[in-house]
Amino acid sequence: MKALICRAFIGISNLEIMICALSRKLFRQGTYFPSIRISGVANRKQKEIRGTREWAVAEINCCSGCPHGCRYCYARSAAFVSGQIESAEDWLECVVDEKINREYPCFSGQVMFPTAHDIVEENLEVSLDVIGQLLKSGNRVLVVSKPSLICFEKICDTFSQMQNNILFRFTITARNQEILSFWEPGAPSYDERKKALKMAFNRGFTTSVSIEPMLDAGDVVDLVADVQNFVNHSIWVGKMNKIDQRVICDSEQAQKEVDRIVQEQSDERIMSLYLQLHKNQLIRWKESIKEVVGLPMASQVGLDQ
Ligand code: SF4
Repeated sequence: MKALICRAFIGISNLEIMICALSRKLFRQGTYFPSIRISGVANRKQKEIRGTREWAVAEINCCSGCPHGCRYCYARSAAFVSGQIESAEDWLECVVDEKINREYPCFSGQVMFPTAHDIVEENLEVSLDVIGQLLKSGNRVLVVSKPSLICFEKICDTFSQMQNNILFRFTITARNQEILSFWEPGAPSYDERKKALKMAFNRGFTTSVSIEPMLDAGDVVDLVADVQNFVNHSIWVGKMNKIDQRVICDSEQAQKEVDRIVQEQSDERIMSLYLQLHKNQLIRWKESIKEVVGLPMASQVGLDQ
């Protein structure tokens, strides 16, 4: 298993590995600083803006590990390469950093929380603190999650007076529960995510959906139709990236699933999907699709469009 995962994680850059290793060292020493990644000057030099940098100028996290255990998780692959975890199982434990410094500056654009874990009952209190502190500093906060209804009822209750500065983006990668259970074994069901979306929308929050990675590309048009009445901001659609580097492929079933995903996100299929959805005003295409259909890449970090 370890060899398979190791082979899967070779795509992480040396710089990322060094940063993760340093974080791990500080964590062990009890002086761990909250994970803040700022997409500033260095990123302006880059030709292409990809991943979470399309959405936010800064990324905030407050714990390590995630019980959702998604097979394609980039955060887990980074943690493995850095030595922060020794196996995929280690990642399932959510380790909250109780000592984090929760004072944040006002960033120059939208801030994303979290990016390398999810908001679950184990870290809900600290997550509420982090969101509250970010808002207090004047930030616009993009909260991204495979939402637990219990957690988001609490988040909506807590921040009902500050909803103008919050954008919820709920990751809903498929409707088929069999597919979800395979790829995201610990995450909430489709029904629960949709209920959380509906609840936040009905309470007046700004709502968005991320269908990235598409786990059932043939159903994306119907998935969009199923959720769009509860979305007032955007629906992002994107491919599964770096499959050969990140995905745990440890069985025949896993290989079949990987093959299916690869087939379903061929250029031909992506173009067909684009033609079916491009007139929908809510749809925004991630960089993985922009480059296939010939749309311009994002020109600035954090534009979220
Ligand atoms: S929810 Fe996000 S952080 Fe958690 S395992 Fe899945 S991809 Fe990783």
